[in-house]
Amino acid sequence: MSDPEPINPEVVRRDFPIFAGASHRQRLHYLDNAATTHKPDKVINAIAACYAQCYAPIHRGLYPMAEQATSNYEHARRVLQHFIGAASPDELVFTSSATEAINMVASGWLRQRLQSGDVVWVSRMEHHSNYLPWQRVCHEKQAQLRFIELTEDGQMDLDRIPELFAEPTKFIAITHVSNVLGVQNPVASLCATARECGIPVLVDAAQSVSHLELDVSAMCCDFLAFSAHKMFGPTGIGLLYGRQDRLAGMEPLQLGGGMVDSVVDGTSAASSWAKVPSRFEAGSPDMPGAVGFAAAADYLSSLGHERVGRHIAALTRLAAERLMGINGISLLPHAELPASGIVSFTHRYIHPHDMAQVAGEAGVAIRAGHHCAQPLLRHLGLAATARASFSVYNDESDIDALIDAIISAQRIFCE
Ligand code: PLP
Repeated sequence: MSDPEPINPEVVRRDFPIFAGASHRQRLHYLDNAATTHKPDKVINAIAACYAQCYAPIHRGLYPMAEQATSNYEHARRVLQHFIGAASPDELVFTSSATEAINMVASGWLRQRLQSGDVVWVSRMEHHSNYLPWQRVCHEKQAQLRFIELTEDGQMDLDRIPELFAEPTKFIAITHVSNVLGVQNPVASLCATARECGIPVLVDAAQSVSHLELDVSAMCCDFLAFSAHKMFGPTGIGLLYGRQDRLAGMEPLQLGGGMVDSVVDGTSAASSWAKVPSRFEAGSPDMPGAVGFAAAADYLSSLGHERVGRHIAALTRLAAERLMGINGISLLPHAELPASGIVSFTHRYIHPHDMAQVAGEAGVAIRAGHHCAQPLLRHLGLAATARASFSVYNDESDIDALIDAIISAQRIFCE
C-alpha cells in the first residue's frame, strides 16, 4: 500500500481562523500545543450553530428543539465512542476535563475499594492531574502510592518492579504520552498484563489523543481520560471512558439534576441514581461543548491519524536535531529522538522563563516551567524546562523561528 499523502500545514492553517491575516501582522509560531490546541472553523461553527440554531436544555424538554438538542448531544457521544473504539456509548461519560475524569475514578471508584496497606502505582512522569487524586485517596486510606521509576533514558523501568503486577497492588494509573519527556509508554502491553492479574488500569490520554489513534478495546484499559481542548475541541469538556462493569461500580461524585432515578424525602440515603452514564453527568450538560468535541474528533479523523502522527513525529525529530546543534542546549533524557510532539530542553546559561519570554517577543509561543510534573522535575534535578510542542498546523518555519529566538536569547544573556 502506498504511503498516505503528507499533511500540508499551509493548507491546514487555512482551517484555523487564528492564523488568518498572518501576512499582515507578525506570524504566530504556536509551539504550545501540549498545553492546548487552536480550533478549526469546523469546531467553532459547530458550537456556534448549537447556540444559533438548536439550543435548549437536554434530557428534559419535550418540545422539538429540546429533543433535537438531546439527540445532538447523544450523537456526539456516539461519534466519540467510535473515535476511541469503545463497545458502547454508555461507556463514555462527559466530564469538564481529563482532570475531572481522573478525580472521578480516584474518588468515586478507588476510594470504596482501597484499604490500608494496598499499593497504587503511577509512573514518575505523571502530570499532577494523574498524581494528586491518587495521592489523596492513598493518604486517606493509608495505602501506598509508589512510582514506576525511569531508566536513564527516560523510559518507564517496568523490568525492575516484579511486584507491580502482584498483591497488594490495587490500581495502576499511567500516562500514555509524557507531557514533559514526550515519551510514549507501552500502555497496551501494561494493560494486558494487568488484566491477566486482575488489576485495573487508568490511562491518561491527554497528550496522546491529538495524534495517536486510540482504541480502548485493543488497549485493554479499564479507564481512559482526555480533554477536548488538546485535540482542537473546546475548553471545558473532557471524557471519561470506563468499561461497563467498572462504571457500574463507580459512585457519582456530583449529585443533582439529571442523574437521579428517584429522590426520597428527608435524610434517608435511599435516593437512587439514573443508569450509566447519566448518573455521572449531574446538572445541565454542556451540549454545545459535546457537539464541538465531536466535531474536533471528526476533524482529526478527516486528517487521518497516520498522517497526523507522521507529520508531528517528523517535526519533533527535526526540532530535536536542530536544538541539539546549539551549544549550551540539553534535551531531556530520551532513548531516541522524541517523536510524540514534545521536546523539552534546558540551556546551560539561560533560564527557561527568560528563553520563553524572548521567544514570545519574537512571536514564538513555547512553554516554560515545571509543566505540572514536579515529581519528574525533582527526579531530574531541575526546577523548570522550556518545552516546544507541535501540531498539524506547524511546519519547519516554526522551528526556524524557535532556533532564531534561542540565538537571540543567547546574544542577550550570554554575550
Ligand atoms: N494529563 C496530562 C499528561 C496533561 O498533559 C494534562 C494537561 O496538560 C492533563 C492530564 C490535564 O488536562 P486538563 O487540564 O485538560 O484536565
